[in-house]
Amino acid sequence: MLVVDANICPQNHRCPLVHICPVDAISQVGYGLPVIDNDICIQCGKCTRGCPLGAVVKV
Ligand code: SF4
Repeated sequence: MLVVDANICPQNHRCPLVHICPVDAISQVGYGLPVIDNDICIQCGKCTRGCPLGAVVKV
């Protein structure tokens, strides 16, 4: 499953991946750590490629 690594994501901005995900699997409250709903995720890889910091990781 995919998660946003809290040690990599600076959590100081609106995450652009929220609007990149084609199935709306990524949510964020304020500038908080984005959360990926792996029950919705179709493993397209757009968020993994889209994060400039590489904060989306497989666990
Ligand atoms: S892999 Fe694709 S479907 Fe899954 S959370 Fe990332 S952008 Fe959304």
